[in-house]
Amino acid sequence: MPTIGKIVIAGAGQAGGRAAEALRSAGFRGAITVIGEENHPPYERPQLSKELLATLDTPVSYLKPARDWSDVLDVTMITGAAVVACDAGRQTVATGDGRIFDYDRLLLATGTQPRRINTLGGTGARVHYLRNIEDAMQLRQSFHRQARVVIVGGGVIGLEAACAAAKHGCDVTVVESQQRLLARAFPGLVSEVVEARHRSHGVRFAFGVTVVEGTADGVRLTDGTALKADIILVGIGVDPSSAVARDLGLSADAGIEVDGFGRTAAPNVFSAGDVSLQWSKCHDRAIRVETWANAQNQAICVAGNMIGTGREYGDPPWFWSDQYDLNIQVVGDMLNADHIVRGDAGSDRFSVAAMRGGEIVGAISINAAKDMAMFRRLVARQSRLNRSDIESTAYDLRKALIIN
Ligand code: NAD
Repeated sequence: MPTIGKIVIAGAGQAGGRAAEALRSAGFRGAITVIGEENHPPYERPQLSKELLATLDTPVSYLKPARDWSDVLDVTMITGAAVVACDAGRQTVATGDGRIFDYDRLLLATGTQPRRINTLGGTGARVHYLRNIEDAMQLRQSFHRQARVVIVGGGVIGLEAACAAAKHGCDVTVVESQQRLLARAFPGLVSEVVEARHRSHGVRFAFGVTVVEGTADGVRLTDGTALKADIILVGIGVDPSSAVARDLGLSADAGIEVDGFGRTAAPNVFSAGDVSLQWSKCHDRAIRVETWANAQNQAICVAGNMIGTGREYGDPPWFWSDQYDLNIQVVGDMLNADHIVRGDAGSDRFSVAAMRGGEIVGAISINAAKDMAMFRRLVARQSRLNRSDIESTAYDLRKALIIN
């Protein structure tokens, strides 16, 4: 293998940061340059819709102290500069401020950006999106008792923000275009539990509608309803930040396609994190996995592959969401599957397993972290399980691990 002297990582989020660390842990001694658009070294994004919205004085959790990147890891961490172009022939990337960096290996870990609603321009309310530290700080500062908050999108951002706003005494309405919450990843019965918990905290919902336009004092919905708002938060999903991949001849609209090792179709170019489109065994198709765990673990695995480890990545997608007193964890694929409930679905603590063809392909737990620890391992193995064993809370799921 030719000597690898220079590795460039485009993107200084969870994936970019963890990849740089992993390269050093694996013994790579060449130059590592991480280039990030934000004005911060890598930080933990889950807190943006949780702790940072809850209290103003929550400190930002960085992956490591800023100076450690250079002083401990000998990594050149460039912040406030986006990679805007790549040249596959010369093996270079260019930043918006005109700098050129050459690479022997390139990792594209550019993440995603929020989908926007362009018809809100005329509103008198303050419009927010939530992707970075500044967004979270601004949103947090705008929450005050009785502020009228309209949240567009009943997904993870919308609902975690709804929790924080409700706790701050705001008057919250969530506008969701589907007929239920979290339809992208949750089964209906869990959506109902989550909705009921929000309603008990005073949150209102409008389902099956969206926002048409901003008005002088709020928004108008597709069914003609006018909602008054001081604050509008839009959380309607994200798109991959993959434009530069096209310079490398990669089709990137749905994400940057990678194989199990994180390799793209361009020579010496890899991708990891939210932006990468990877095969998911439990979904039985290629998906982008927008989770903290994937940004970390896929990136660590792919970093090794950039310098020759040769290990395939295959962790099933896993994420959690904290809403009021509900800790919700999801692994694998919950859609297009048979659902088997473990515990009492009407209670504050139960799980649902997703089975396809006799194999477990997903699970979701509400305040049942111990079950989830087992389900994560069972889904990773796509174990065959008996319906009655899953249903019985007396059955120890560890037994299923031994059998499978
Ligand atoms: P999402 O896909 O989770 O939810 C978007 C919601 O908006 C969906 O319910 C969708 O039906 C709805 N929607 C789409 N278009 C709409 C429209 N025009 N009007 C009304 N509703 C509409 O995306 P998100 O909540 O925006 O989150 C963005 C990203 O942040 C994701 O990558 C997510 O994984 C990540 N995130 C994760 C967590 C967590 O894991 N706990 C928390 C916050 C954010």
